[in-house]
Amino acid sequence: MRALPNRVVKPLPQAGLRISVAVSPSDSQDACVRIQHRVSLNSTPRVSSELAALGVPTSAENGLASRLITFIVHEDHPRWPRIAQIIDGGAVDVVTTTFTEKEICQAAHVLLESTWHHGYPQPEDDFGYLSATYDLSDHCAACGVGARQKSSFRMEGEPKWGKKSVLQLNWVFDELFATPELWHTVFEPAGVERLPVLGKNGEELATVVQLAVGDQVEIEVSGMPAKHCPTCGRSKYLPATRGFFPAVLDEPGSLARTVQYFGSDGSAFRPIVARQEISRALAEHKVRGVSVRPLAGQDERHS
Ligand SMILES: [Zn+2]
Repeated sequence: MRALPNRVVKPLPQAGLRISVAVSPSDSQDACVRIQHRVSLNSTPRVSSELAALGVPTSAENGLASRLITFIVHEDHPRWPRIAQIIDGGAVDVVTTTFTEKEICQAAHVLLESTWHHGYPQPEDDFGYLSATYDLSDHCAACGVGARQKSSFRMEGEPKWGKKSVLQLNWVFDELFATPELWHTVFEPAGVERLPVLGKNGEELATVVQLAVGDQVEIEVSGMPAKHCPTCGRSKYLPATRGFFPAVLDEPGSLARTVQYFGSDGSAFRPIVARQEISRALAEHKVRGVSVRPLAGQDERHS
């Protein structure tokens, strides 16, 4: 199984919290979608021996003196319901969905998810980038919905790309930035425009562009948990973090944002959906910094 770097939606995991999902393709053509949990918990001798009896090998995280143990388990484990109860009793649980290459290649659309969060939008003090970058006339500070980009993003300086060529800024979970070379190779042929990115002093940066997401698309959200904002009356969905991403209800352009907002607390974002041709080109060029997650097909919604 080939694991790609994982995406962490929230800044840092905290004890007792189930955190975001990561996605990685697997090389196996046989296995189907599998959901893996990497669990850390403060154990007792009783819990440790019960896990052993359930057939879940654990390891001590900080040496034998510590009660912190770690284990990896899949939801297709025959004793999963009991193991899930133990996890729900209080643990840090990192959930990963793996897909086969076939599942990724056969999907008409994929979600683009950043695997590299680098730097902060500027100015970052007091979240000054918000009013500098967005028209906030329809924005709700309570839930984060409604900001519309009006100006170029500013970064601290040229990104230190290394071998990566796609990045996402911290705090901004619905914009992707790429090297000009990658834009030219993968995104320009698909009709995706580029937007300039500025440095702290307003100069245009030479080694990074913003990918212009020129379209938006409705997705199938029936049955998904949503949160209603008492301040503005709008709703957003809890991040859809397991298995296939919900199907599109329309035929979007090469890059599209979902109409629906996702997020928790004061953050709201609209995930970026790409057509299969972009997914294929990213794989062909072995692009680092982004991973893809297949959308459910229109005839297999909620699969
Ligand atoms: Zn609101």
